[in-house]
Amino acid sequence: MGIIIKIPIVLLILMCVVSCSTSEIIPPEFNGERAFEYLQQQVAFGPRVPGSDASGKCREYFFEFFIKNGLKIDSQQFIYPDPYSGNNIEMVNVIASINPDVKPSNRIVLMAHYDCRPRTDFAFDTLLKDKPIDGANDGASGVAVLMELANLFKGKDPQCGIDLVLVDGEDWGKAGDLTNYLLGSREFGRRGIRGKYRFGIVVDMVGEKEQRFYREGYSDKFSKPLNDLVWKTAADLGINTFIDSVKYTIVDDHLSLQSAGISAIDIIDFDYPEWHTEFDTPDKCSPQSLDNVGRVLTKIIYNPSQWPKK
Ligand SMILES: [Zn+2]
Repeated sequence: MGIIIKIPIVLLILMCVVSCSTSEIIPPEFNGERAFEYLQQQVAFGPRVPGSDASGKCREYFFEFFIKNGLKIDSQQFIYPDPYSGNNIEMVNVIASINPDVKPSNRIVLMAHYDCRPRTDFAFDTLLKDKPIDGANDGASGVAVLMELANLFKGKDPQCGIDLVLVDGEDWGKAGDLTNYLLGSREFGRRGIRGKYRFGIVVDMVGEKEQRFYREGYSDKFSKPLNDLVWKTAADLGINTFIDSVKYTIVDDHLSLQSAGISAIDIIDFDYPEWHTEFDTPDKCSPQSLDNVGRVLTKIIYNPSQWPKK
């Protein structure tokens, strides 16, 4: 017979509260190699410039992929009157949802842009200036991470609602012309998302081999508790590519979510020498870098008890 220790009931309740609040759910294992294949497969379609054949074919590939993984698919089509060419450009956001009926307090949005920039601002070869970029890191990397998450949901229900939103037209604007950026996420924001999510995370340019994430300025200013959670999670996992200071303040898709009153941050590595050049290709990216971001997101997704309060 063991020793019987009488513990006062108040202490028992206290012990439960402490252990329940700190117990962590072990998430499924994110596969960076597989995510990297998704990056390569997107690039293989050619530049996914809005309205192009490559963009349409890549979208079909997304639909097929998410349906195969049991997610609910939706799309948002809109026509953008392009001020540069005078043409109407068809743009389409892709939304893949897991547990679509979960209420907003337990529902999050994860976003990445799948479009490629239609011009190469900093082309080394000046003949390429008007040609689109491959967008391996600037576009495909974030989408690749979200696709791999869909694989994990199939194996283990995250017990929360998640919308994976792949937006079009993020990178359309000419340098300095901010009104013609973020076209897909603005459209997403216009369609009544206020109050529908607990929070949102944008992943953009997350695949570079020499990965280094600083806290982004708007994220830290307007959604600090969420930013804190992301950087703390990375530190807890021993991932040292998340550096705990603000360096850049960037206009990106998270602003469309913040404008709709949603707490939202941007995980972005802006120290990328190949940014908007013809060298933004898969060889500049690595499975390990995708794995780092994926592991951070996975741990957060599967541990809603750690999410910041509203
Ligand atoms: Zn870009």
